[in-house]
Amino acid sequence: MAKRDYYEVLGVDKGTSDAELKKAYRRVAMKYHPDRNPDDAKAEEKFKEASEAYEVLSDSQKRAAYDQYGHEGLEGAAGMGGAGGFGGGGFSDIFGDVFGDIFGGAAGRRGGPARGADLRYNLELGLEEAVKGKAVKIKVPTLVSCGTCNGSGAKPGTSPTTCTTCGGHGQVRMQQGFFSVQQTCPTCRGTGSIISDPCSACHGQGRVEETKTLSVKVPPGVDTGDRIRLAGEGEAGAEGGPAGDLYVQVHVREHEFFQRDGKNLYCEVPISIFEACLGGEIEVPTLDGRVKLRVPAETQTGKLFRLRGKGVSSVRGGTTGDLMCRVVLETPVNLSKDQKDLLEKLRDSMKSKKHSPRQESWFEGMKNFFGDMKL
Ligand SMILES: [Zn+2]
Ligand SMILES: [Zn+2]
Repeated sequence: MAKRDYYEVLGVDKGTSDAELKKAYRRVAMKYHPDRNPDDAKAEEKFKEASEAYEVLSDSQKRAAYDQYGHEGLEGAAGMGGAGGFGGGGFSDIFGDVFGDIFGGAAGRRGGPARGADLRYNLELGLEEAVKGKAVKIKVPTLVSCGTCNGSGAKPGTSPTTCTTCGGHGQVRMQQGFFSVQQTCPTCRGTGSIISDPCSACHGQGRVEETKTLSVKVPPGVDTGDRIRLAGEGEAGAEGGPAGDLYVQVHVREHEFFQRDGKNLYCEVPISIFEACLGGEIEVPTLDGRVKLRVPAETQTGKLFRLRGKGVSSVRGGTTGDLMCRVVLETPVNLSKDQKDLLEKLRDSMKSKKHSPRQESWFEGMKNFFGDMKL
């Protein structure tokens, strides 16, 4: 089978720059990567083809030979072993090299000491605190930079020396036949330096355990699930590496009266039979204190009243939500004999169907529902 032109494989022009080439290879390789196309022989073939093309074109010598003589130009090249004989671990090494920055790379690929871990702190707040915002002090057990050695890990008065194995890069290149493989330096484990005289306070780690007290400014409007990021307040990195971040995870406790749904608040308020029948003014709780709500005559139980602007402002801005107030009719209890008599009199005066149209239509509906069925 005739081999395809390498430039064609990557979809680039012959004069393309190295950066463009790398980009093009990424694009093709991402598309056909075996992890994304399991059990797809065609994709695997394309992936190998692209890897092969990139391996050749990213090497200026091979690229020159290819440009001049085409595929034949590479046949006799030392160490090639036939460009068609790709496979095995070969392309995964190129892959790691090109893709390391996308996939986060293996730890230690990047030179220098590793970054400290990110931390998470669960912060529980009351509804009012979450809505109005609050400055809170939190205590976080963490690793902080060692004060004795200033985080270097080396005994005061001494300093880490540059690793001679990797020359301070933290990585070494190993030649494996055709491929040049990049590995974390085994001598310094990627940090690029060697501590011959470790600090006794932190045992050469450059960091020690400590419980940090931090002030967190909780902005108004946060809700359960929101996180506040405190950059650089995570664990200190080992041997002077950069610190991680601290994420404060907000959890809002249930409230006695209010349920929150985004920017709106919901509450339930009991009303008496008289307020429901005759109308009246009731008191409704809001986060800013009580307000009066006018209930019209003949209000049914379960009716929802909207109090505009008495809800919550989102931490992301926009208008303030509403308070949705549901009135629930409370049946009178502990009635005296006289009261019962009065109620009976009232009942007898209200035999007409016009006083309970809903009940009336409900009974009608039920009759239709059961049809001629004899119950
Ligand atoms: Zn130390
Ligand atoms: Zn090293």
